[in-house]
Order: sequence, then structure tokens, then C-alpha cells
Amino acid sequence: MKILFFCLFLLFGVSSCIKKTAFEFASPNFELIKLADGVYACIHKFGGKAICNVGIIDNGTETFIFDSFLSPEVAKELIVVVEKLKLSPIKYIVNSHAHNDHIRGNQVFSNDIEIISTAVTGYEIAVNEPIDIADEKEYAIQSFAFYDSLLNEYKGDSTDRAFLNIQMWRPYYEVLSNSHNEIITRVPNIYIDSIKTFPGTNRDIQLISRGKGHTKSDLVLYIPNDNILFAGDLVFNEMHPYLPSGYMDEWNGWLDYFNTLNVDQLVPGHGNVGGPEQIFKMKEYISDVYVIIKNIKRDTSVDLDFTKIKIPEKYKDWWFEQFFVSNLKFMNTKIQQE
Ligand SMILES: [Zn+2]
Repeated sequence: MKILFFCLFLLFGVSSCIKKTAFEFASPNFELIKLADGVYACIHKFGGKAICNVGIIDNGTETFIFDSFLSPEVAKELIVVVEKLKLSPIKYIVNSHAHNDHIRGNQVFSNDIEIISTAVTGYEIAVNEPIDIADEKEYAIQSFAFYDSLLNEYKGDSTDRAFLNIQMWRPYYEVLSNSHNEIITRVPNIYIDSIKTFPGTNRDIQLISRGKGHTKSDLVLYIPNDNILFAGDLVFNEMHPYLPSGYMDEWNGWLDYFNTLNVDQLVPGHGNVGGPEQIFKMKEYISDVYVIIKNIKRDTSVDLDFTKIKIPEKYKDWWFEQFFVSNLKFMNTKIQQE
């Protein structure tokens, strides 16, 4: 009998040890998706505090982190993932643009890790972050209270769109509510404003900027050896993109440029990993918003009520539907100025 117990102990003891050594990563904030050996996408989860998507790319000698999430706490999980996957040491953090959800994890990385952006993005972060963080002290706390009350009063199904929308926005405002206590703005220290290739033993990594697009200045990461593109917020997948901080002609120029690259897997700034079809959908969305505004019969004596304009059927399942009205207003102002 003793021998049987000993054998059982050996069997289960050893198997549990094996289980512990295998890397199993589960985060409430993002899903880790392997795109190739040494290339991963971290895709924001509903209810999580990642908010934007992040890329982890090991070129064989050094690891790049593309964007750094909204929450510093969640960015710390990236350090754990890189260690557990036994990737090369993190050498560079890339900020695709200056929006808060892509940059606020910068502060958790050690000082010997370089932060790369375009020069304009570096300037925007340095100048705008203190102002934005001060503003968040007011409006983010109010918005969090609003979404928190929606959650507390919610009685429907947890798979309903209404519930998932609460789960989309409540964590965003929760993180922003605390930013004035938590954020130590870390401004990028290396600027890339054209194309720079970082050769590696496993793959080359290209950082590419064409200037204006989704913002005053955008930067993307392309891996020619694997046909993988991390597009930042120049592409949203099945989500309304946010147009008002963008430049439509230049944004379209970026999308045309993406079509000249070999892309099999495209990681958007928001939404799931997809393929090159997302590039076409983004172009179509920008064009559709333009056409909707252009076709409005104008009565200059009455202010337009953009909330009465219906979301086209093909976008009715897309997330971030609040952005549709903002996008209409933005496009209307732009067309008025043409
Ligand atoms: Zn953005």
C-alpha cells in the first residue's frame, strides 16, 4: 500500500511540477496571441484595463514592445510575459502616437529601456499629458461614477451588448480617475520620422512613419520577414475609428501605403487581429462618413442634429458607436472648410 501511495505521489507530484513549469498566461486585461515564433499580439479584453492592443516582437537579439497600454499596472504584465516566454531582453518601447491609452505604461520599464516615437509624438506627450491628466481629475471621475452606476443597476444578461459596452468604458474611466495619482509621464527619447530597420538574427523590424494620419504623427511596426503589421490606431477592426484627431487625406495615404506592403496578419490599435481586408474597411468607413455628410440637404437656418443620423447597417455591430456622432461632426466641420 505504501508503495502505491508513493507511486501516486510521484505521478501527481511530478505532473503538477511539469504543469507549473509550462507557461500558461491568463490576464483579465488582454489575450496573448502568438502570431509567429517570438511575435505576439496582446488584445484588450472586455472588462480589462489594457484598452489598446500591444505587440511583443523579439528580433532574436532584442525585444520591442509596440505601445504600452493605458494602465501602468497592466503594462507590468508585459514584463512578466517577456520573461516567461524567455524572449530576448526588452530594449525598446514604441509609442505609435500620443493618445493616452498607448503611452501610459511607459513608466514601468527600466531607464535603460529606450522609448521610441516620432518627434511630434514626443512633443505632444510632453506638452499635453500634464494638461490631460489634470483634466481627468474632473471629468474621468464623473464618467467613472456614471458607468459604475450603470453596472450596479444592470439587470440584463452578461452577454448583451449593453453590458459589454459598460465593460468597455467603465475600466477606461476607472484607470483615468486614478491617473493623477499614478502617472509619471515618461517622454520618448528616440525619434524616428521616416523608416528605420532594426536587423535581428530572427527577423528584421521596421519602424515606419509617414507623419499625419490618425493623429498629427503616427508610427507603425512592420515585419517584412513574417508579413505582420502593427498598425496602431490607423486601423480599428470592427470598431468605429476615432477620426477627430486625424487628417483624412493623410490617413488615406497611410492606408494606400499599407496596401503596398505584404501583409498577412494585421494587428489593429483596437479590435481583434485580422488580415489585410481591414485596410479596405477603414478606407470605406472614412469614405462613407464623408459621403453621408456631403449628401445632407442643408438648411442653414437649422443646426444639424447628428444624433439623428443612423449608423449604416454594415457598421451596426461595430463597437465604439459613440465615435460615429463625433466622426460626423468632425467631417462636417472639415467639409465646411473645403
Ligand atoms: Zn488613438
